[in-house]
Amino acid sequence: MVERVALLRAPNPSAMTLDGTNTWLLASRNGEAICIDPGPAIPAHVDRIVAYLRENALRLRSILLTHGHPDHAPAAPLLAAATGARTLAHRFSAAPHDDVLEDEAELRVGDLQIVAIEAPGHTLEHLVFYERESAALFTGDTILGTGTVVIAPPGGAMRPYQATLRRLLDEFGDARTICCGHGPIVTTPRAKIEEYIEHRQRREAELLAALAAGPQTIPDLVERIYRDADMRLWAAAARQMLAYLLALEEEHRVRARRLERPMTEREHAILNPDWVNVVGAEHAPLVEAELGAQLRLDTIYEYSLTPA
Ligand SMILES: [Zn+2]
Repeated sequence: MVERVALLRAPNPSAMTLDGTNTWLLASRNGEAICIDPGPAIPAHVDRIVAYLRENALRLRSILLTHGHPDHAPAAPLLAAATGARTLAHRFSAAPHDDVLEDEAELRVGDLQIVAIEAPGHTLEHLVFYERESAALFTGDTILGTGTVVIAPPGGAMRPYQATLRRLLDEFGDARTICCGHGPIVTTPRAKIEEYIEHRQRREAELLAALAAGPQTIPDLVERIYRDADMRLWAAAARQMLAYLLALEEEHRVRARRLERPMTEREHAILNPDWVNVVGAEHAPLVEAELGAQLRLDTIYEYSLTPA
C-alpha cells in the first residue's frame, strides 16, 4: 500500500538545512498526489521524486511551497515540467508559481484535504499546511525537527513569528505529527510548539537582562550573551538579535541611538560577515538568504532600555 505521507530528503545537508531539506509526498487513495517543498534544484533529487511517483503509480497534481528559500522551492519548475503538476504558493512568493493560496484556503486532491495557513515570521510569504485525515502539520522552516529556526530581517520578523506560533498552538496543537522542513518528524506537536514559544520568550528576556547593564551595540550584546558559543554563530546571532531589537523598539521598550563614528572591523565582521569565507562558496547563497545578508548594516546603533 502507498504511504499516505512519505518523506524524500534532498541531498543538501548543511548547518542551515540539518540533514537536508524534507520533501513530502502525500498520496490520495485514487492515485493522485501532492508534493510539499520539492527542494533545491538538484536533478538527482527531482529524479528520485519522479521515480517514487512512478513506482507507486501516483499522478502528481500539485506542488505546494512553504516559502521561496533556495533550499525549498527551486526544484518546483523541474518537477512541474516532469509531471505537469501546478505550483501553488503565497501571494507574496517570488518563486515561480501558477496559483496563489490565501489564508485558510482548502485544496482537495482526491481524498487529500489540505488547508493552507499563512505563517509569517521566518519569511513574510511563509505558508504552513495541514492535512485533515492524517492530522499532519507541514511547517517548512516555521518549526524544525531539531533546534530552532532563523528569524532575521528584512525577510523575517519576530512578533509575526511569535503570533504564528501561538496560532499554530491554538488551532493545530492537537495535530498528530509535525512534518518539518528539516529534521525528524515531531510526534508531540503541542509540546514542540510550546517549547518554541518559550525559547523565544527566554531569548528576549536574556536580551533585556543584558541591556539592563547599560547601553550596548549589537556586537557588544552578542559577545556578552554568546560568549561561550562558536564565533561563527555570532553573525547569525546578531541578525536574530536585530529582529528582537526592532520589535522592542517599535513597542517603545528599547531606544536606538545612532553612533556618529565608523564601524570598527570587529563590529563589521559580526554584522556583515563575508559568508563565503565563513561557510564556503557552496553554502553562502543559502546562508545569505536565511540571514537576510542583503540588508547591509552600515551604521552602528547603541540600544538602551526605555526608562519606565
Ligand atoms: Zn528558509
